[in-house]
Amino acid sequence: MFVFGHVGISIAIMHFLRSRVKNIDYRLLLLGSMLPDIIDKPLGLVVLKDILYSGRLVAHTLLFASLLTLLAFGRKSMKLKLLSVGIWLHLLFDMMFLYPRTLLWPGLGNFMPLDYHADFMAQLVSNPYVYVPEIVGFMFLLYVFFRHGLYRKANLLGFLRTGKLE
Ligand SMILES: [Zn+2]
Repeated sequence: MFVFGHVGISIAIMHFLRSRVKNIDYRLLLLGSMLPDIIDKPLGLVVLKDILYSGRLVAHTLLFASLLTLLAFGRKSMKLKLLSVGIWLHLLFDMMFLYPRTLLWPGLGNFMPLDYHADFMAQLVSNPYVYVPEIVGFMFLLYVFFRHGLYRKANLLGFLRTGKLE
């Protein structure tokens, strides 16, 4: 899953739960939903390219998600909790359970080498497991954009300032 799938579907899930969860700052959920890739892609595909060519490293592990969740509950921080939710959803949508060596790192050895995203543009147009979530995520982002009037400057600035969708 790429950007629209991760961001759009994570926001959709929280949007449907909004009557049960108070003070949702969607900016943190959005950041969490992309954080594993924001950390691991530059790290594994650029910085450590010659050693560990993979876009899924430490931020795609249970260890990373669990430590952040423990920190969130330890500090009773709603912001960190939302960030953690985004990260857990990212691991789920990346189907990390199919990559146990990475998911359970360091328990089962080193990270799995890259065997996905080999040609992501080709996958984006040919693999329904890739393009369907992207379309669904994008459609939901459009829905939120129009439903909450984010095309109006004041609403958009309000959202960027508070992270709230009223
Ligand atoms: Zn990822």
